Amino acid sequence: MHDKIICSVVVPLYNEEEVLLETYKRLKKVMDSLKDSYEIIFVNDGSRDKTAPMAYEICANDKKIKLIDFARNFGHQTAITAGMDYSEGQAIVVIDADLQDPPELIPKMLKKWKEGYDVVYGKRLARKGETFFKKFTAKLFYRFLRRMTEVEIPVDTGDFRLIDRKVAEALKLVNERSRYIRGIISWLGFKQIGIEFNRDKRFAGETKYPLKKMFKFAFDAITSFSYKPLKLASYTGFLLSFCSFIYLLVVLYTKLFSSEITQPGWASTLAVNLFFNGITLMILGIIGEYIGRIYDEAKGRPLYIIRQTKNFSEDKSNKITMR
Ligand code: UDP
Ligand code: MG
Repeated sequence: MHDKIICSVVVPLYNEEEVLLETYKRLKKVMDSLKDSYEIIFVNDGSRDKTAPMAYEICANDKKIKLIDFARNFGHQTAITAGMDYSEGQAIVVIDADLQDPPELIPKMLKKWKEGYDVVYGKRLARKGETFFKKFTAKLFYRFLRRMTEVEIPVDTGDFRLIDRKVAEALKLVNERSRYIRGIISWLGFKQIGIEFNRDKRFAGETKYPLKKMFKFAFDAITSFSYKPLKLASYTGFLLSFCSFIYLLVVLYTKLFSSEITQPGWASTLAVNLFFNGITLMILGIIGEYIGRIYDEAKGRPLYIIRQTKNFSEDKSNKITMR
């Protein structure tokens, strides 16, 4: 191997044909302006548009660009994981493909890293070009998550960050499937610092996080970092059984000792039934969310399958990873 790579840039790609060339150009410009040697790792997460052929073409012309081509769509967090797994740099930067995270911030991150920080995360001040709904739910989610968990996860922080090689190696030891990477990195500890930036709007194309994926993502984050929903479920259960026990005493007393004529009262029966059934189903649902994830872990399938790689020193496809 020739000289040691200082900085790896990991870019997950899912149907990004409209932005890929521009992202490549802007990233390259920033990286070329630095003195450090670098590699850019594109991870094609099973795109259905022209992203893959475009990425292959870029790789054919520029050996500094490497490609991991997934066999299907495995999800954003998994794509990032694969990129980190196969990176060689002493520092690894993860950045979205849509230029919402400005590549021009990378030199600043590297500067902080050279000052001795192990994790430099980008903290979003403003988010441009996103719907009120997205911004509102994101804000709410980050704050809710903070209350739910003991791990100190910085709010309003995405996956745009730099991590040191030793953090990436530690991350390889974390085998969980429902991955919430920014949470896991916080959990790892190390010396962390945030730098603030304004999040731009998407350069082109639309978000690859529809509501369904957002929900899955939020549930992954909460269930991997908190047992509180389960606790809440059992507390609610206890409280409700306590109330019903008291009410049972009242009912028995009325029936046996009072002269009051008991009514047929289907309305109250129905109301109580509906209420309790609702709560029970909700609690079962919460438990189900956890069991589903336990099931995923138990199967122990590999986290991702690679169809092909380009420009790595050896082909990484079909390589059994330790995960
Ligand atoms: N992405 C991915 N796999 C997916 C969904 C998204 O690799 O299943 C990538 C996408 O190409 C982009 C990044 O993850 O580089 C963030 O996605 P997006 O910008 O759509 O999310 P948003 O910024 O709207 O939250
Ligand atoms: Mg985006």
